[in-house]
Amino acid sequence: MTELALADGFRFEDLYNRDGLLRLDALFLESLDEPLRADMEAARKAPGALEPKAEAALVLALAPKLESFLARLFGIEAEADALSGRHTALAPVYRCKRLFVQRRAARAVKPEEAAALDGAAVEAALGAHMPVPVEEEAFSEAVLGWLGDEANGGEALEAAARYAAWALHHPEGRARHGRGVLFRQPGRIDPFRLIDTEVRTEHGTPALELPEARLRRREGFALTDDGMDLKAALDQAHYCIFCHNQGKDSCARGLRDRKTGAFANTVFGVELAGCPLEEKISEMQLLKAEGFALGALATVCIDNPLCAATGHRICNDCMKSCIYQKQDPVDIPQVETRALKDVLELPWGFEIYSLMTRWNPLNFARPLPLPETGRQVLVVGLGPAGFSLAHHLMNDGHRVVAVDGLKIEPLAPALSGVDEAGARHPFRPVRDMAELREDLAERVMAGFGGVAEYGITVRWDKNFLKIVRLLLERRAAFTMVGGVRFGGTLGLDEAFEWGFDHVAVAAGAGRPTHVPMPNALAPGVRMASDFLMALQLTGAARTDSIANLQIRLPVVVVGGGLTAIDTATESLAYYPVQVEKFLTRYEVLDGGVAWTEEEAEVAGEFLAHARAIRAERARAAAAGEAPRIRELLRAWGGVTIAYRRRLIDAPSYTLNHEEVAKALEEGIRFAECLSPLAVEVDG
Ligand code: SF4
Repeated sequence: MTELALADGFRFEDLYNRDGLLRLDALFLESLDEPLRADMEAARKAPGALEPKAEAALVLALAPKLESFLARLFGIEAEADALSGRHTALAPVYRCKRLFVQRRAARAVKPEEAAALDGAAVEAALGAHMPVPVEEEAFSEAVLGWLGDEANGGEALEAAARYAAWALHHPEGRARHGRGVLFRQPGRIDPFRLIDTEVRTEHGTPALELPEARLRRREGFALTDDGMDLKAALDQAHYCIFCHNQGKDSCARGLRDRKTGAFANTVFGVELAGCPLEEKISEMQLLKAEGFALGALATVCIDNPLCAATGHRICNDCMKSCIYQKQDPVDIPQVETRALKDVLELPWGFEIYSLMTRWNPLNFARPLPLPETGRQVLVVGLGPAGFSLAHHLMNDGHRVVAVDGLKIEPLAPALSGVDEAGARHPFRPVRDMAELREDLAERVMAGFGGVAEYGITVRWDKNFLKIVRLLLERRAAFTMVGGVRFGGTLGLDEAFEWGFDHVAVAAGAGRPTHVPMPNALAPGVRMASDFLMALQLTGAARTDSIANLQIRLPVVVVGGGLTAIDTATESLAYYPVQVEKFLTRYEVLDGGVAWTEEEAEVAGEFLAHARAIRAERARAAAAGEAPRIRELLRAWGGVTIAYRRRLIDAPSYTLNHEEVAKALEEGIRFAECLSPLAVEVDG
């Protein structure tokens, strides 16, 4: 199936115009039985009148119907069934975890007793009842069977309980099963120790680091975090207790103080207001847990249609407000991102997701775009605020012209529907997400996405930005122009003279922090945000780029916010790329370069470091192991974050400690209670 053949005589173009969507909507309504159809029509007439629990029930009743409808429309019933089957095939693992591992085994064998168990003996005892070594799925099936026949399964259950306790508590058991889900328990939360650091002193400066065993090797600028696979994400979805049933889904609506009714705060004073979009998280997780992959994504899209730009490694307000406050919260962003990826990986997955952003019958307030209003809005800035606003304005029937200061590289008109001159062209459906995907290390910055493009590092898959861009760019009501500086190329008065009815400025309000100290502008001192932007805009990290973005080790990043964290990781990753590129060019140019004394010093340092890295790569290749680049970088001074207060006071820690932990995993050091007084320049 390489050509898109939509059911019921629909053409691909119909999915992009309101008349087509109206027909689709009517067909979906027709497909529903009573009283569901009447309930949905009533909900549309008065969406605000629905109580949250009633709305949740209606969404949950409709989502499976929508899933079947979409699978049939796109002719992917078999693939959608297979995807659903992959969800349900894993269900015994989560059931066994809840009913047996957590409720029975963990209680029957005390942690101290389990830590003293002999792994070989425990495994041999279990081996008398089922095949070993233990596979999680097989263990779960066997245990659930024995639980259903306790009269005959008692001895086997006892052996399984001892094995489970060993896997949970014994270091060897944890080493064997720690990467799975069955024998992993949520940890208790100590807000003052969310990251298990240790202090090491170097050159007289103590700094927090992760223990060696927790460090991870990073090479270059490929995506550093693939996120959870289906099994791990479903483990989180099954961990959720679906609080919408009690109307207490604090992840979506915020965690309230029982006495005052106001939002509660963390111990660090961060308000627990939940998801800013009030996404129907609980309902999404229930649908995902039950195997309705398309239904789960459609539920996300009710409140968060541009979910490609949220989720894992982007936001975590929901997770902070999860009802689990004393133990690990449900990792909602991972589940949300998995929900999107699972659909995107289906044939025509991009088109299905794209359709959900224009037509979503689970969204009772705005199931499809309103008729054209004739109004035009100028949106200034194409970062997350600008592109989200543009989307909602179009669904409200307005035309949008969006401008951004960055030059926006054109995409192929057959994909985007627009050529370089802005003329509209027919575009083709995307069958396979792989054709949109680019390797982050080789990707050319496209200019769309504002801070999401130049401020976010390769911790996040920027292919999602291309998806968001296509969601907007393919729509006839949308025009996008790059390289336009509002207030320069185009002013407010001009915008109104040109006929815009509204101007929305979504160009960012934050100013970089300037540290007032002597020699703050000396060579070698950079604003962190400038460094990140230069790294992205110039493409300096790409091997074929001739951009000159020079850094030397050691690097000290001053600050405690997420920009400091990103700057630290990216400078550490960039340094070896920089010196290796330098060495390659030096060899090509045969060294025939006349340098000043200062240049010669820097060049000598770069060449020595690059040769050391090259030698290490050769050694590692011969030994069949990963090169120990991190150790070399550390010997040359590495990267240290210097913050004026403690780690636990840093905004990066209080708002998103996972990002700090991920940075420390790459070998970043965090020095507390250090304030810069001055930059001392040589000579
Ligand atoms: S994610 Fe947490 S707060 Fe939200 S429904 Fe699940 S358990 Fe409840």
